[in-house]
Amino acid sequence: MILHKGVVVHPDEITQTWKKVILGSDIDILGIHPVGGGDSHERVRELAEHGFEASAAETVRELMSHGVGLEYELHVMSLLLPRELFGAHPEYFRLDENGGRNADYNCCASNKDALEIISQNACELAKKLPSSTHRYCFWLDDVRDKCCRCPECSRLSASDQALAVYNAVQRGVRRADIQGRQSYLAYCGASEPPSSVEPEDGVYLEYAPFDRDFRKPMSCSENAPSARNARELAAFFGAKDGKVLEYWLDNSMFSGWQKPPKKLNADPELIRRDLEFYDALGFGAVTTFACYLGADYEELWGEPDLGGYAVFDK
Ligand SMILES: [Zn+2]
Repeated sequence: MILHKGVVVHPDEITQTWKKVILGSDIDILGIHPVGGGDSHERVRELAEHGFEASAAETVRELMSHGVGLEYELHVMSLLLPRELFGAHPEYFRLDENGGRNADYNCCASNKDALEIISQNACELAKKLPSSTHRYCFWLDDVRDKCCRCPECSRLSASDQALAVYNAVQRGVRRADIQGRQSYLAYCGASEPPSSVEPEDGVYLEYAPFDRDFRKPMSCSENAPSARNARELAAFFGAKDGKVLEYWLDNSMFSGWQKPPKKLNADPELIRRDLEFYDALGFGAVTTFACYLGADYEELWGEPDLGGYAVFDK
């Protein structure tokens, strides 16, 4: 049963409208996701060192005082395994498609020393950006097909490599927060269940169906591959402690990740049917990206219509 619902927004889009919506509805998780791109880890570092800008910080405090959970959803491989280590330790990084070590994305998922560094840095990051729900989302890079092809990693699927890294993150998160749990982000190349790596205690499923058809419900034939992945992942990891990360309100994607934001056209029927789909699979929490709906959106288009996602008569 879906017990928790969230929205994931950019740090500079934590508006008074969101406060009103979250406090007045059944949404009880605020997820923070820095603007993407190659230097997004720098924005995470900034957030970890200096926190939110003053008015956003006040809004977050107020939401949390009302029991709203705060989570950070972050692609942070450059912080977990700094690329500057490449000079001294190229073996920490992936063997790429051309047969050379490369620090461009992700890491070697079989290198024990690299995994230990990832653990330590995950611990430090969890101390600086604690999750009030104890759910942590420190993810691999936002790319597809950038695995390690070294002899050991070649025996692992992309999903296995991802899980090996998330297990290392989990060990670090747990050192910072005894109840901390790290997500396995099922996304792009890691959308199928792992086959030869097992999740360590605390790792939970976070299913982000980026490859779905966003105009059709998950139960439609167009979304059969994504729906099958969801079912298989739920069977592998369990869904009760898992979370769906959807795109129903992702106005950054619908705007082509280019400002100014376009007008959001959320589809209430699609959202309703998808919520039923995830509920039937047993997911305990569902959240959706809801970026590009900040103050600049409201100036152009007024308060966003959330397509019935937020239920106000709670
Ligand atoms: Zn490797």
